[in-house]
Amino acid sequence: MHDVFEEWLTEFQDQTDTAAASEEFQQWLDTQSQFHDYSIRNTILIRIQRLDATKVAGYRTWQTKFDRQVKKGESAIWIWAPIVARQCPDCGNSPTYCASSSCSYDETPPIEWTKGVVGFRPVPVFDIAQTEGEPLPELETSVHGDATRLVPALLGAAPTLDVRATLVSSENWRHGSANGVC
Ligand SMILES: [Zn+2]
Repeated sequence: MHDVFEEWLTEFQDQTDTAAASEEFQQWLDTQSQFHDYSIRNTILIRIQRLDATKVAGYRTWQTKFDRQVKKGESAIWIWAPIVARQCPDCGNSPTYCASSSCSYDETPPIEWTKGVVGFRPVPVFDIAQTEGEPLPELETSVHGDATRLVPALLGAAPTLDVRATLVSSENWRHGSANGVC
């Protein structure tokens, strides 16, 4: 996986100098925007393996959180998941690795070490298109109602909060379907 990643990254860097870069980059940004919960490395891994992926989750997560089932015969997208364990304050390894290494730290017992990321392991995830079942819940984010009193209150409160609030007319709005930006 590491080699594939490095290879893709090298290719990607090369392409930034070419005219093809803008489209490639735009596509990548589109993918990136779909995976805000994933590291940049995992986002790239997802893209390498499934260009059209929009929402990915683990097999169990699709079942338990979304009432959806991964379809038979679908092959997994592999990403890296952090391994969290107690870390030796000196060498930074897990207790087992620390004990089997040349590290001689013995000021505090492993049970008192704080937890942290000690490594990564490959885990399988699946894109929503590889699953079937209940549709995903839509989050209602549109604004309703009469804002004639709310808007003046907001504008009045802004300076005391050291915030600059501005009303933007719809013809000058550049943020798509968002009702406001911060
Ligand atoms: Zn150690």
